[in-house]
Amino acid sequence: MKHNEKPSALIMIFGATGDLANRKLFPSLYRLFEKGNLSENFAVIGVARRSLSNEQFQENVKNSVQSVASNSNNIDEFASHFYYHSHDVTDSDSYVALREMAVQLDEQYQTKGNRIFYLAMAPEFFGSIATHLNEDGLTNVQGFKRLVIEKPFGHDLKSAKELNNQIRTAFSEDEIYRIDHYLGKEMVRNIEVIRFANAIFEPLWNNRYISNIQVTSSETLGVEERGRYYENSGALRDMVQNHMLQMVALLAMEPPIKLNTEEIRSEKVKVLRAMRSIKDDKVDKYFVRGQYGEGILNGQKVSAYRDEQMVDPQSNTETFVAGKLLIDNFRWAGVPFYIRTGKRMKSKSTKIVIQFKDIPMNLYYKTEQTLNPNLLVIHIQPEEGITLHLNAQKTGNHMNATPVKLSYSNTGIDGINTPEAYEKLLYDCMRGDATNFTHWDEVALSWSFVDNISQHWQQTQTHFPNYESGSAGPKDSDVLLARDGFFWWPIGDLEVEKYQ
Ligand code: NAP
Repeated sequence: MKHNEKPSALIMIFGATGDLANRKLFPSLYRLFEKGNLSENFAVIGVARRSLSNEQFQENVKNSVQSVASNSNNIDEFASHFYYHSHDVTDSDSYVALREMAVQLDEQYQTKGNRIFYLAMAPEFFGSIATHLNEDGLTNVQGFKRLVIEKPFGHDLKSAKELNNQIRTAFSEDEIYRIDHYLGKEMVRNIEVIRFANAIFEPLWNNRYISNIQVTSSETLGVEERGRYYENSGALRDMVQNHMLQMVALLAMEPPIKLNTEEIRSEKVKVLRAMRSIKDDKVDKYFVRGQYGEGILNGQKVSAYRDEQMVDPQSNTETFVAGKLLIDNFRWAGVPFYIRTGKRMKSKSTKIVIQFKDIPMNLYYKTEQTLNPNLLVIHIQPEEGITLHLNAQKTGNHMNATPVKLSYSNTGIDGINTPEAYEKLLYDCMRGDATNFTHWDEVALSWSFVDNISQHWQQTQTHFPNYESGSAGPKDSDVLLARDGFFWWPIGDLEVEKYQ
């Protein structure tokens, strides 16, 4: 595709009446349409079991984009590109009718025979949908064909391999776009720019100058109505295997020789290969799991995980994970990467703190001062931006070093909401840019790392619940860092002064 060319495609969304389609996919497509990033040559077929007419489906689409539409005049035009096919994905006969509809829309919208298949439904269907698409000729197209697939990609390495083999019968690796929506987030994409476009950071980005790196992703929400899914997943599979390890890989990778898909992925794969495998008894030294009990959040009493809907009252599923990762290569030997993720924590925040080593000689000891370490904080959500923590002298404060912060806030400066991750990922997929999707090699390496931990946890006792809702997680998570002489930088706003 030429650089300025607008993508044309027929997009089939499987699970078009579901939550993801309505909350994320339709609004993201609308924003692309509104900004003029989609050509007129696009059409969408929504697929789900319930019976809806095209008009009813278009009405759903209009309702879903209403809140993001700045110009209500173009909503009708946008929705007119949407069609509905009532179809049970397990019913072989129905794929033939879907193919006929697709052929007709290809013609009507001059889509150049390009097709995107977006699987926005439960993962147990992924394999059989891919097989049907292939066997019933839906992937037999003139243009490109791409499969977009939601998480979770398998439950462990074995099931991920089985799923991969199944979808590879219909799509080649470079046609598979495995979504990790963290990779669509503005500031996660910005990690590369911060690192590789600034002369002041890259020379320091190694074990000579960095003491440790902390990646936190905390939520205040509990498991809500996702109990059934979460009981079989837990925080390790739901967050660590994908989002947390992807962020670590971006932080730790070597500068790629080019900023293209193959080179970036290949550097990320090297990081995952260099990650020290943690298994058996070592797991307890490097990883901490937790499950929330009841507690108070925003002044409201909230219930324990074991009392949530569709959760076993004796459940041993973890809702919190903290871990220490070591990357055994020349750049990172000896630098711990601490990761932490949990539900029902005291605040919602995803951020990365890079803590630099103390300077070799502290001249300010004379004034009985301890200096704060320099920190580079990358705020991913809900705030987006970067903060650099330095020491400087405030006016009139003779010979005293005071912590100061230099901050850049994405939303503050632009004055508009930054585009949603899904909008960027959908656009990337239409343009054929797979950089921010996960390659099979990354998925496989992440599962092998995570499987060792979950296997050990399955065989050992838990003492759940072990953290209160509204807290910063179990005490053992603090002990994990204290053993190395570190502590977690706070989850909410980072006020260094308080931590001297
Ligand atoms: P959901 O609300 O339960 O929607 C499921 C969709 O699948 C519905 O449209 C349902 O419609 C359709 N469906 C179910 N069985 C079907 C069948 N046999 N044949 C055809 N259609 C069928 O689920 P969701 O929250 O949108 O999640 C979808 C996927 O995205 C899951 O893999 C989830 O893990 C992933 N995901 C979701 C989110 C999110 O924000 N929601 C975030 C990250 C990942 P009918 O009942 O009409 O058939």
